Amino acid sequence: MTLYEKSVAGRCAFSFRFEENHSAVDSLIPAYAAAPVKHLPEVSEPDLVRHFTNLARLNYGVDTGFYPLGSCTMKYNPKINERLAADQRLTMRHPLDDPDDNQGILQMECELKEYLQEITGMDDFTLQPACGAHGELTGMLIIHAYVRDHDPGRTKVLIPDSAHGTNPASASMAGFQVVTVPSDERGGVDMAALDTLMDNTVAAIMLTNPNTVGLFEENITRIAELVHARGGLLYYDGANLNALMGLMRPGDVGFDVVHLNLHKTFSTPHGGGGPGAAPVGVKRFLAEYLPVPVIVRKGSGFALDYERTHTIGRMSAFYGNTAVLARAYVYVKMMGRDGLRAASTAAVINANYMKSRLSAIFPPAYDRPVMHETVLSAKQYDKFGVSLLDIAKRLMDYGYHPPTIYFPHFPPHAEEVMMIEPTESESKETMDAFCDALIHISEEAREHPELLQTAPHITPVTRVSETYAARNLITSHRDKKGS
Ligand SMILES: *Cc1c(COP(=O)(O)O)cnc(C)c1O
Repeated sequence: MTLYEKSVAGRCAFSFRFEENHSAVDSLIPAYAAAPVKHLPEVSEPDLVRHFTNLARLNYGVDTGFYPLGSCTMKYNPKINERLAADQRLTMRHPLDDPDDNQGILQMECELKEYLQEITGMDDFTLQPACGAHGELTGMLIIHAYVRDHDPGRTKVLIPDSAHGTNPASASMAGFQVVTVPSDERGGVDMAALDTLMDNTVAAIMLTNPNTVGLFEENITRIAELVHARGGLLYYDGANLNALMGLMRPGDVGFDVVHLNLHKTFSTPHGGGGPGAAPVGVKRFLAEYLPVPVIVRKGSGFALDYERTHTIGRMSAFYGNTAVLARAYVYVKMMGRDGLRAASTAAVINANYMKSRLSAIFPPAYDRPVMHETVLSAKQYDKFGVSLLDIAKRLMDYGYHPPTIYFPHFPPHAEEVMMIEPTESESKETMDAFCDALIHISEEAREHPELLQTAPHITPVTRVSETYAARNLITSHRDKKGS
């Protein structure tokens, strides 16, 4: 029931008494009295509070339970990030304030940039992009501009078939032609295919390491040598950096451009429609191409640098989503060098622990150690009429957010695969409880397949059509019949 349906004329949600045609609130805030708001639902305060509290309880989030959604790094976001980012000394600043009056914010952002440089081994960063895909576009535009200036015949970008869908989208939005590089049987880049494809029409290769099935790209230094030797650049999709902080720096193994998803690796909130941040780092020879302004040290203070000779322009308003960047800054400061390395190490150990606990009932897609996430197959439950989708739905009855299923580029040899990413935040007890639930579900699949085929049973909404919404698009309010 919507709040409008609960509306009863005359009810209101504050308890001040009306005096002489003025509500107490109106007299407290004159602007309200000047412009009465019409057509709002009229409900009592408890009705209002219950409406939104109950809606909020339908949410599933990292704060309510284990969220092993592979590829998304749903780690816990420490509350201190929120506390400090909400501080009025930060929120009351405006990006149009004179930089001299905004030194604190600029210092925070400049230091964040320097921390990211140190973590990735890059020489300079922009903090402007607002999400991973936006970071990719920024990086691809930088490479596009660089190639235009130096070697305009390079019009292609190589992307492994295992890549996240945003990679080819970003490369082609930036004006490149995308060429797919197949994976080998170990799940890495097929070196023979790369050797054939890498010629003087290729501007760059976009790589994710560990890749999107959680495997470390073992040939990374050979790939870097080959691509560089033939005049190409290396782009690092840093969405999976959570496996490598303090263990390997993309800049050290040959990457020229990187983006980082702060909402994955650096514990800023995921989505919810809100702002994100995906800083993009470059090697020195590309620093003149960064979007302006770039935050820099100047004398003993900090400044906005608009003088980048080959800048690709702006990628967002001002200098990035400051409130998001503040959370990542707090996180890095709280964790420190050792803490970040410990986080990545634990993320890798946790994924391998879950892989080994589950491999007897859900065989791994690749028989090798994984990094921060693991891909497991539910193919063997076919014979009971149970699909991976049924298993994922059943997990909701056990109170869990299901892992990622049917990722677009899962390895063709492994059907019905799910990708589990526990992150470093989870205890052994939490992972064990989840594994126990999956083990129990695998028994149910044999004995009571119907329980799975119709799951979930105890959620507010049960089995929904996977395709109805896509086939019956409602793109505006007016499309809705009768409203
Ligand atoms: C999440 C992800 C992206 C896209 O990042 P967004 O912030 O969601 O735009 C790109 N590549 C990989 C490997 C990812 O996991």
